[in-house]
Amino acid sequence: MPLLLLLPVSGSIAELEYDITSGGNTGQLAPSGEDKLNVSILHHFKGHKGPVLQCKLTNSELQQFHVVCKFSTNQPKIDAIRNECKIYEQKLRHLQGTIIPRCYGIFQGMMDEKFVVCLVTEYSGTVVKDFYKTDWDFRIDVINALVTVHKAGVRYGRAGRFGESKVLVNCEGRHVLFNLDKAEEHTCEHDSSQITFTAHARCPSGEKFLCTELYDASDRTLDLWEPYYVVLWDRAVPVETMKDMNAVLALAPEGLPHDEAYKEAKPLIDAFMENLGHRRRLEPLVKADDGLIYLTRSTKGGQSINS
Ligand SMILES: [Zn+2]
Repeated sequence: MPLLLLLPVSGSIAELEYDITSGGNTGQLAPSGEDKLNVSILHHFKGHKGPVLQCKLTNSELQQFHVVCKFSTNQPKIDAIRNECKIYEQKLRHLQGTIIPRCYGIFQGMMDEKFVVCLVTEYSGTVVKDFYKTDWDFRIDVINALVTVHKAGVRYGRAGRFGESKVLVNCEGRHVLFNLDKAEEHTCEHDSSQITFTAHARCPSGEKFLCTELYDASDRTLDLWEPYYVVLWDRAVPVETMKDMNAVLALAPEGLPHDEAYKEAKPLIDAFMENLGHRRRLEPLVKADDGLIYLTRSTKGGQSINS
């Protein structure tokens, strides 16, 4: 008898058979390799092209497993599901159960008169809603996990696009990367000795990353790097200069009276410094008197007045 997944659907039970070529780690589910796994559906995730269900599997010895079942009936999505399983099993096997969910492989068969393919993985938490509301340590853990995945030879790629929908928070508040159906093999040239991912540091120049996905993920997606200049009188004034008001005023346009220049520069610099403190403490930012101060996605690397 093969290993079967028994799924309640439309008043009957669909039987999906384990695809032995998928290589998933089914040993835990059924030590003998043969069994019937009864499925209870706990939750139906919305916002996916194919059905994705959070389920409980019960084997004949009444052992239970909390899993996620990802289904597809159309060929491109089936190919993507098989790609995801292959990546879990071949490239990321050593990371399963830590920063990647355990993979139980693929089951397939007829359901509602359609051929269906189902990838079963361990339930590993809930999806991150907004990286900008997660703390700095979490974001650093996420980028380091992504580096580990890259070093294992995988990237999310242009089609997969790394973001909130690729990261789970487990019951311990730890990160788990998933949703790799569009991921691709990758030879990563990033040199970890060149860049330390840390909160409140300046973004190193893009060339130093040697990997576009890691650069984009740390910068635009996770907003890890701290802004370090304001735009004043059409020039970038770095934090170091801001600390010395005489040095700032020396940059004022010719003919602008000293007291006028001071009145323009002081509130902007005060707001920048105050906002930097808020950003570090993950608090809402304040508005400057003469416009909005941006410190997030809209002006990477610095800030400007929107007057
Ligand atoms: Zn890379």
